[in-house]
Amino acid sequence: MTVFRDDILDGRVAIVTGGATGLGLEVARTLGRHGAKVAICSRKEDNLRPAVKELAAQGIEARYGVCDIRDMEQVQRVVAETVAAFGRIDVVVNNAAGNFPAPLTGLSTNGFKAVVDIDLLGTFNMSRAAYDAYLGEHGGSIVNISATIQYTGMAMQAHVASAKAGVDALTRTCAIEWGRNGVRVNVVAPGGMTGTEGYSRVTAVTGTGTRSPLGRHGTRHEVADAVLFLASDAASYITGATIAVDGGACLAR
Ligand code: NAP
Repeated sequence: MTVFRDDILDGRVAIVTGGATGLGLEVARTLGRHGAKVAICSRKEDNLRPAVKELAAQGIEARYGVCDIRDMEQVQRVVAETVAAFGRIDVVVNNAAGNFPAPLTGLSTNGFKAVVDIDLLGTFNMSRAAYDAYLGEHGGSIVNISATIQYTGMAMQAHVASAKAGVDALTRTCAIEWGRNGVRVNVVAPGGMTGTEGYSRVTAVTGTGTRSPLGRHGTRHEVADAVLFLASDAASYITGATIAVDGGACLAR
């Protein structure tokens, strides 16, 4: 069920990092159902292959590239393969992330660095590679999937909150530097989304309550629809913005 016209991304091409699982797969599905060709990428071919099969079964033209988002050469290869296969890139969704709950005293330097490298450096790598290869010349839309926990801090999430604060800052700077080239760069900041592994991992430790004034958790579809909006021409004068898709929960901490 969608409130958007089916063809609003017709002829467009989207790359979704971490697009084989959870919110990323829902985003890939939603962009595809609205006309985009979709390239998904992450490290595990065992996840990517069935995800592309599932997308294809729904009539979506999809492909995958294996890459560790932390490695710029691998990211550049996936971007080049996408342009070669689909002819263009219009939308980049930086969704790949690492997360495990840990108190500060249980967090190693490597653990902290791994999350910052995946979330923040990975977002920089893909944005820069796509900008250099296509977006810088042709324009487009970058949507960075962040979070809301960095607004207040959250126990067990120092590494993730720090990484996402960086993603928010990077987004605004990209929006300023790349606006003249027709590249819009925005953030979708989900609260806790039921039906995702990320949510289950964190709430196993933090509990499942919600502070949303709407009195419920969000769904994957609600995040994907916000990404679709920012990817589409309906958001043509929106850049450097954050849409929190958290049912207002961050207002109530
Ligand atoms: P998820 O299911 O854990 O998916 C993360 C994805 O990132 C996986 O597909 C994983 O694929 C990929 N990935 C991890 N490390 C990678 C690397 N080094 N290189 C390339 N890909 C990598 O996460 P999710 O819960 O759907 O969350 C998606 C996004 O929403 C994340 O940015 C997360 O921070 C944000 N978010 C989620 C929630 C929630 O409630 N779920 C709340 C707030 C924010 P591989 O393992 O194959 O590499």
